[in-house]
Amino acid sequence: MIPIVARILDFIYPAYCQICSTQLSYGKSLCNVCLGKLVPVEAPLCSQCGECFDGDIDSQFTCNNCQGLDFSFNFARAAYRGDKSSRQLIHDFKYSRQIHLAENLATLTSLALEDSRFLPFLKNGILVPVPLHWLRQRKRRFNQSEEIVKHLARQIDMPWANILKRTRNTETQTRYNRKKRLQNLKGAFQLRRNGKALISNKMVILVDDVLTTGSTANECAVVLLENGASKVAVLTLIRG
Ligand SMILES: [Zn+2]
Ligand SMILES: [Zn+2]
Repeated sequence: MIPIVARILDFIYPAYCQICSTQLSYGKSLCNVCLGKLVPVEAPLCSQCGECFDGDIDSQFTCNNCQGLDFSFNFARAAYRGDKSSRQLIHDFKYSRQIHLAENLATLTSLALEDSRFLPFLKNGILVPVPLHWLRQRKRRFNQSEEIVKHLARQIDMPWANILKRTRNTETQTRYNRKKRLQNLKGAFQLRRNGKALISNKMVILVDDVLTTGSTANECAVVLLENGASKVAVLTLIRG
């Protein structure tokens, strides 16, 4: 953008950091201080669900989050740890309808793609957002995962398709333990009619804003694999 235009826009529509409210220059939604406070997910982490650990992972390692669970996706990987700053960012995005944050959040999410396990997915893959039930989407006005995927696809030059739908409006899962969450989600997702041709023999990167237990992502992965996807990996902005 021409600098003078950006200066005028700053004057008409002042931008503020979404976390600390510092005034920013046009086109930014986070200040460098707050960006620097976000904590990237780094090894060691659980090779299945992406949970971070502060110690070393030895051969005796068992993950408290996914021990005993056999997920259908190959692995899940988040870009940043879930903490006060990153959760507030996602909360503002989702519940305060700050849709302009999507582009920044997509850039932040792409950090996780540096994990070399994504390489084959990036070569011959497709990005698919985790869907919201239409009732919830109508209330929220947009699907946060879809908005992130749209921008991410453009940034990394990869195809994307909104081919999953949520057929049951499962209530918020936070009250349930992980076993109950998995049961509660059985059969909650379906493929849209045009979906099969788009994922046949393709490696799918399933994208969501937050990964908590992995149960939602797992249900989506089951549907994608049943319909011809060759592999599914899960990419999220934060690890809940
Ligand atoms: Zn800030
Ligand atoms: Zn795990």
